[in-house]
Amino acid sequence: MSAPTIKLNTGAEIPLIGLGTWQSPPGQVEKAVEYALKNGYKHIDGAWAYDNEEEVGKGIKASGVPREEIFITSKIWSTYHRRVEENVDDTLKKLGTDYLDLLLMHWPVPLNPNGNHPKFPTLPDGTRDVDKGWSIVDTWKQMEKLYKAGKVKAIGVSNFSQLKLEELLPHVEVVPAVNQLEIHLYNPQHKLLEYMNSKGIVPQAYSPLGSTGSPLLTDETATELSKKYNVSVAAVLLGYLVAKKIVTLPKSVTPERIQANLDGSVEFAKKVEPADLERLDGVAASGKQHRFIMPPWPIELGFDNWRKPAW
Ligand code: NDP
Repeated sequence: MSAPTIKLNTGAEIPLIGLGTWQSPPGQVEKAVEYALKNGYKHIDGAWAYDNEEEVGKGIKASGVPREEIFITSKIWSTYHRRVEENVDDTLKKLGTDYLDLLLMHWPVPLNPNGNHPKFPTLPDGTRDVDKGWSIVDTWKQMEKLYKAGKVKAIGVSNFSQLKLEELLPHVEVVPAVNQLEIHLYNPQHKLLEYMNSKGIVPQAYSPLGSTGSPLLTDETATELSKKYNVSVAAVLLGYLVAKKIVTLPKSVTPERIQANLDGSVEFAKKVEPADLERLDGVAASGKQHRFIMPPWPIELGFDNWRKPAW
């Protein structure tokens, strides 16, 4: 089975299911990527910061699937906002390809490129060392250049609230093709998605199972619907997003799960009744609203329900 696709504002088609690769260790991720591509996946979500792009590249090569049939995403890391092309070139070298289908700004937070750590520089008080002399608009301009040069076929953002999109959009020549966000049953982001839809920005859902250890698998409503439709709970959680045309990025290094996540979600998305989608849409508001990914950035990101850092 292969995933349905939707169109980006560039005209390119993006598969609605992609394999996530965060926390997929070298030694396992090669096999996971190879297995996924040999079994219907056409879309891999990676990032420079995941420290496994060389192994992801090996998996792509081992699959034997032609490059042009695969949609590959990577993300520039916060300490590289002043050096976008350098970051992308390193990613391309590691992946063994000469272009990306999609390049994202990983977080709207430029960090000091010359700080005390290559990825997570901190100040003496322990807070993240933000690069205050650089803006996300400056970063975006560099991304636009790579897009125009054809090194990346689309550009987008990640972890952008409406506040951050409103800071960026008045200054862009190229509107972001996507915004990759924490989106799932307990964090559906209805308002932000409505705003993005009005701008033609496609949503991508990260941590669709609740991230490490897949905690959303115990949800009662999803469990009940899995029985009604005779699919797995994971299929309900992922298929719910696919049915709403949200690009969904489940991570797994376990072959049976990789296969089941694709097949089950496509099956559930086809079968689910509108009333059950509405029911799933309401789960978070029934007291279950929860985020699983909240790095302590010392700047205002503008998300609802974001735990404000203590400083
Ligand atoms: P997910 O919600 O995809 O959950 C991954 C966890 O679920 C792993 O422990 C995996 O275990 C387990 N799992 C997967 N499928 C099943 C299944 N069918 N049954 C039971 N357990 C299952 O979490 P992530 O946080 O990894 O998010 C997905 C992807 O989104 C990332 O890998 C990354 O590509 C992207 N992402 C982007 C972020 C950003 O800032 N832009 C932030 C976070 C994620 P196992 O692997 O052992 O099978």
